[in-house]
Amino acid sequence: MKPSHIEHIGIAVTNLNDTIKYYEDVLGLECYKVEEVADQKVKTAFFMVGETKIELLESTDPEGPIGKFLEKKGPGIHHLAFAFQDVNEALKDAEAKGVALIDKTGRKGAENMNIGFLHPKSTFGVLTEFCSK
Ligand code: ZN
Repeated sequence: MKPSHIEHIGIAVTNLNDTIKYYEDVLGLECYKVEEVADQKVKTAFFMVGETKIELLESTDPEGPIGKFLEKKGPGIHHLAFAFQDVNEALKDAEAKGVALIDKTGRKGAENMNIGFLHPKSTFGVLTEFCSK
């Protein structure tokens, strides 16, 4: 089982509007959606670059995952998301190969995707997300 492409790159930001302006004005990309994901305590903004998206993540709660990340590491690349046909299968496959999972099965993420995270201790420091439509 292998991913079809990089679905998105998640980037933690301190100011969503300033960052959107950078991607629009400097890179010429278009922000096609801003969405709050309440259970993740983030507000997200999306840009399409070929088949891959840039997902900006602004924290809505300092105790949420992005709030804690910003506190510890500051703004920057937060995670890498690979597109799979079936997230649950891909997670099960990774677990069978000894990878520690944050999510044992897929859950609902931004853009109505089914998502699951692998633990960065098993992925050489890169927080890795699997997702499917
Ligand atoms: Zn993501």
